[in-house]
Amino acid sequence: MNPYVSSLMSDVQAKNPAQPEFHQAVEEVAESLVVVLDKHPEYRSAKILERIIEPERVVMFRVPWMDDQGEVPITRGFRIEVNSAIGPYKGGLRFHPSVNLGILKFLAFEQVFKNSLTTLPMGGGKGGSDFDPKGKSDLEVMRFCQSFMSELFRHIGPNTDIPAGDIGVGGREIGFLFGQYKRIANEFTGVLTGKGIHWGGSLIRPEATGYGAVYFAANMLETRGETLEGKSCLVSGAGNVAQFATEKLTELGAKVVTLSDSSGHIYDPEGINAEKLAWVQALKNKRRGRIKEYAAEFPGATYTEADPGADHNPLWAHKAECAFPCATQNEINVKDADNLLAGGVYLVTEGANMPSSAQAVEHFIDKNILFGPGKAANAGGVAVSGLEMAQNSMRYNWTREEVDTRLKMIMKDIHTATVGAADRFGTPNNYVNGANIAGFLKVADAMLDQGVV
Ligand code: NDP
Repeated sequence: MNPYVSSLMSDVQAKNPAQPEFHQAVEEVAESLVVVLDKHPEYRSAKILERIIEPERVVMFRVPWMDDQGEVPITRGFRIEVNSAIGPYKGGLRFHPSVNLGILKFLAFEQVFKNSLTTLPMGGGKGGSDFDPKGKSDLEVMRFCQSFMSELFRHIGPNTDIPAGDIGVGGREIGFLFGQYKRIANEFTGVLTGKGIHWGGSLIRPEATGYGAVYFAANMLETRGETLEGKSCLVSGAGNVAQFATEKLTELGAKVVTLSDSSGHIYDPEGINAEKLAWVQALKNKRRGRIKEYAAEFPGATYTEADPGADHNPLWAHKAECAFPCATQNEINVKDADNLLAGGVYLVTEGANMPSSAQAVEHFIDKNILFGPGKAANAGGVAVSGLEMAQNSMRYNWTREEVDTRLKMIMKDIHTATVGAADRFGTPNNYVNGANIAGFLKVADAMLDQGVV
């Protein structure tokens, strides 16, 4: 490890104990930035990276609520506001039992660079709760969201911090959160994105992360003179990002053969076509069922139960050309990376945030495959959130085509900026370095301009 990174990481680990995902995210960025800091001592002397690592504000609070049985579960809420150098804090809310301070700090830290890459004026933040919406009634989810917002509302605002959805926070939760904000603040503003289409939402926002990841993959393939047409693809997850990545891949002539949830994965060698995807969307978004049911519905498909003790995930061992991890962090370990490469995969596009472990990323880069890191590849979601904010400010709605065209353009610009930065700093084809460097430069210059604040 580079001596500067090694000393930085000792400090980060000492100051932020028991936050392995945060350490992982910081180390990756720091490694990429060594060449930049060597060339630009002004960033190092102003401690720009060290300042970005330290969030501007961390809010942690109790969320009291009552379940349908009259019990009072103890749940925690968080909002991490990391950096506001180029715009108000912006980033999703995650409701999942695995949520803790370290996971949200890693996500908020990543968000700073991602938002900068989108070319829109948005700072970075993230929040959420260890509340698990799975298996809860709509009324329980509503009571929880109302209690969560009763505290969060003090810390956010349309010009301060604008949360959105993430794992476990979709249209239903955003609705309940927005309703409570509006009631307490007595104002109808674009304080959240991912809103319903009839009350301030943007067309294409639900689709944006998945579509954007596929556009980014198409841009990467284009550098080799290829398209997605006819490519066999492994997709993980079955939520928002996975569903719309599958939709766009199928539309562009690729064949998606897997989907998953935390219980296991399905493999459908004939491909998950539009009709089957519509069935999955009804299963996941309306009935809130499990992906296992797919194999019972569609003959020819198989279901494999997840084994938490196993050293690899069998989803990544199927033969294919492309992989789109769209579930959660660290879902591809080094063994999975080997299996992917052995199975013929030469493009990995991260729909999820940090789904590949550090060692898996190293493998992909060593083998010179097309590897699109989440910071760049899944930035389409927050980019369209930025477009939703712009539409809210104008009190006007763009058409589906207008938003989609802008999304495509933004993904192309992110691709160009990423490739350009990787080239300029001597690591051509390395999208990880390219994304980290391009994202950093804009924030770093803004921080220099604004002084020590
Ligand atoms: P959803 O809640 O809609 O779906 C998440 C999916 O991943 C579900 O199928 C879920 O299965 C699965 N999953 C979640 N946690 C785990 C786990 N610990 N192990 C295995 N599977 C798991 O979330 P999204 O689709 O919105 O988010 C997916 C990823 O994309 C996340 O990393 C998120 O941060 C990232 N992302 C999302 C954006 C967005 O706009 N929504 C924007 C940018 C990134 P189960 O139902 O069993 O929990």
